[in-house]
Amino acid sequence: MTPDEFRKTGHELIEWVAAYMEGVDRFPVLSQVAPGETRAKLPASPPQHGEQFEEIIGDLDRIILPGITHWQSPRFFGFFPANASGPAILGDLISSGLGVQGMLWATSPACTELEAHVLDWMVEMLGLPAGFRSDTTGGGVIQDSASSASLVAALAARERATGFESNRIGTGGGLTAYASTQAHSSIEKAVRMAGYGAERLRTIEVDDSLAMRPDRLEEAIEEDRAAGLKPAFVTATVGTTSTTAVDPVSAIAEVCRRYGIWLHVDAAYAGIAALLREMRWINAGLDLADSYCTNPHKWMLTNFDCTAFYVADRAHLIETLTVMPEYLRNTASESGAVIDYRDWQIPLGRRFRALKLWFVIRSYGLAGLRAHVRNHIALADHFASLVEASSDFEVVTDHPFGLVCFRHRGGDEVNQRIMDTVNRSGEIYVTHTRVDDRLTLRLAIGSPRTESDDIEEAWRVIKAATGG
Ligand code: PLP
Repeated sequence: MTPDEFRKTGHELIEWVAAYMEGVDRFPVLSQVAPGETRAKLPASPPQHGEQFEEIIGDLDRIILPGITHWQSPRFFGFFPANASGPAILGDLISSGLGVQGMLWATSPACTELEAHVLDWMVEMLGLPAGFRSDTTGGGVIQDSASSASLVAALAARERATGFESNRIGTGGGLTAYASTQAHSSIEKAVRMAGYGAERLRTIEVDDSLAMRPDRLEEAIEEDRAAGLKPAFVTATVGTTSTTAVDPVSAIAEVCRRYGIWLHVDAAYAGIAALLREMRWINAGLDLADSYCTNPHKWMLTNFDCTAFYVADRAHLIETLTVMPEYLRNTASESGAVIDYRDWQIPLGRRFRALKLWFVIRSYGLAGLRAHVRNHIALADHFASLVEASSDFEVVTDHPFGLVCFRHRGGDEVNQRIMDTVNRSGEIYVTHTRVDDRLTLRLAIGSPRTESDDIEEAWRVIKAATGG
């Protein structure tokens, strides 16, 4: 492709994306294709000769779009949101255009320095502890996902608990990890992959608000110590996936401090709410955490993938993850004056993800981002009040963020039928969880295009699905 061909096709594709964003609400929210339907439309073998871009773009519409679930639809209420936005898309485009691989500072100084800088901005924007800034012993790094953030935290915790010996000689078993029964499945995955063993993950009981009980945590730690095991890693969640429950981080941090255990705080979705000063209560106790993560790719208008991960002491992370082959040696790294982010993550290579975050923060500004989050919290309140006004439904848990958990009083079968019906209709998309072992519907608001009309329409569609 010549630069001129790129320019022409690029303009057409930007137009394609703009038209998609404008008209996303025309599509059924949940893709209606059957398993195998997309592949059946693709040729069995790759083309021998290059094809015209018009044909490729035509197939985007014909083959790919029907198989898309429209996460950017104003009526996508499933899981947690994965917001895209114009500035983030353009930032990613520039990142692709530059084609930078930012493993070392020397492989593109701006890639590393912009990342450190915007993550320092995020510390200020979210009111995070100053000890997470890059000019302290701590610092931030962009990971691809909260799952990767938890894994590197679990690894660093393992190393610290074994005097930085387990990389060399193995853990010898005996390390234990802790998270509430409500923690995200990625914590179990991290604990398994970091070699603690799934059986050494203690799932700690929660209270009526589904938040971890620090007294039960301490009991579990005591039991493990009495059995000759070594408690090493605790994850507290701010905004659980199921219901957005908030673990009492301060009390958990006190327990961790007493026993010298690494505390990781997983605020993948809800952490972004701290953009609002009135929501800063969710940051209580973070000054005692060893690591923390939140996902701009969930609620801060930054296309997947972008997880902001912070540590209070970067030396632990670097000691855990550094390997220095001869071919990566360079004077900048050896000077000790630069950050090499390859030592803060699992893979060696890394994309220039800070660009999209920079574009988003600059083009919305703090005021724009705050308005975005505040609007979703207000819309969630609005939806909850519609549910509460109905005698057939109940709101099941607190809803301090953009998620409302609710259910029909008629029981699991009725709720399952409602969910299947509304999702099949393509008008809205909701997902579910279990609370008190009862099927519960989740309506998560996150699209910048969602307005009160969409919320009211969602409620109409849900009520219609009861058959009542
Ligand atoms: N932690 C929590 C609390 C989550 O809600 C999620 C996803 O919803 C994750 C971790 C995993 O996020 P990621 O897809 O970035 O790995």
